[in-house]
Amino acid sequence: MESSTFENTLAFAKQLDEQDPLKHFRDRFYIPLVNGKESIYFTGNSLGLQPKTTQDYVLNELEDWANYGVEGHFHARTPWVSYHEIFPEILSEIVGALPEEIVVMNQLTVNLHLLMISFYRPTKQRYKIICEAKAFPSDQYAFQSQAILHGLNPADVIIEVGPKEGSAYIETADILEAIRIHGNETALVIFGGVNYYSGQVFDMQKICKTAHEVGAICGFDLAHATGNVLLELHDWQVDFACWCSYKYLNSGPGGVAGAFIHQKHISNDTIPRLAGWWGHDKENRFKMDKDFHPIQTAEGWQLSNAPVLSMSAHKASLDIFKEAGIHHLVKKGKSLSAFLLFILNEINNTTTEKIIEIITPEKESERGCQISILMHKDGKKIFDELIKEGVIADWREPNVIRVAPVPLYNRFEDVYLFGEIIKTYCSK
Ligand SMILES: *Cc1c(COP(=O)(O)O)cnc(C)c1O
Repeated sequence: MESSTFENTLAFAKQLDEQDPLKHFRDRFYIPLVNGKESIYFTGNSLGLQPKTTQDYVLNELEDWANYGVEGHFHARTPWVSYHEIFPEILSEIVGALPEEIVVMNQLTVNLHLLMISFYRPTKQRYKIICEAKAFPSDQYAFQSQAILHGLNPADVIIEVGPKEGSAYIETADILEAIRIHGNETALVIFGGVNYYSGQVFDMQKICKTAHEVGAICGFDLAHATGNVLLELHDWQVDFACWCSYKYLNSGPGGVAGAFIHQKHISNDTIPRLAGWWGHDKENRFKMDKDFHPIQTAEGWQLSNAPVLSMSAHKASLDIFKEAGIHHLVKKGKSLSAFLLFILNEINNTTTEKIIEIITPEKESERGCQISILMHKDGKKIFDELIKEGVIADWREPNVIRVAPVPLYNRFEDVYLFGEIIKTYCSK
């Protein structure tokens, strides 16, 4: 959909919804109410909505637990001992990987640490970590504490690549240049797939290629990318990646997370890791032997047995993803954000004072569902008014409103209505 054909009218938005092949999926979700009305829920990038099927999936496991007790590990409808094995197939499409490169386990920051234990191996010469400025705080703390774990000073280790003065956009050229400049000293290049603040999608393929050219390892935190943009982790030769399941993947608060380890590493037993029994060779797991023999897939990085209740919610959501198809979803997500950009630009053209500044790149390849709006005036006040009007969006200090219309349950009509509301407050 070309933005030149957009119109800022309710009729046009409704027409786009009518033509949308994914429109029926909205009915599969509970849409939170505000003042008794369906909200305009634009925080699917923060906590995705609950599929109506989730309760049944979770209840099935509770029922099997009630009926079988410990025997549920083998006799549950989806035996718990291998519950996690249902995920790699569907996730392999979503992240562009081979099933054996994927494991669902733990939570995001935990996985980031486990993967850094394996793939951040500083030496005297090579010890630097190159990352984006303003990475999500948890990631910053992870990088710093990993440096400390190796007896290094985080200030000597971490190199942040930031935007140019007065911009939120980090130029790909600046990232690649930083990698080349620090090439000999760099152990790890690690970026978000999508920056959580600005919504910028990084050029993961180029970043990874350049990291490899200088002899560094390359990883990505895909919290804001998985289920939002197309990924080709295997083909891009990404060394490792991790993501959470509660943002675009709609698997519930604190849901179980995912990890990717490239095929070239999964059977390399010389890579150190923190080991646990669930990563041990399945045939011999219950012999309870002393020596650790890792499973020769990403599963070899597992520590603990599967958190089945959380995984059942994950399964409910991924079954919907499978039905809808990630390519269709990404396409609609980009149309929604293009429509939103069009409407916000129109508002900007009609106000005398520039109140709204869009800090998410306009280029289609550099944005997903999320648009971040820098408010030049009355930001918090306007945000509070939005809530009263039934818009659930996200406020980031000091002055950014993040909105993410997502393809499974948001409509073009939501985008139009949001525009009408924000327009009223901008012209007051
Ligand atoms: C959401 C998010 C997190 C949250 O980490 P948890 O371990 O799931 O609490 C971490 N990093 C990034 C980049 C995120 O977007």
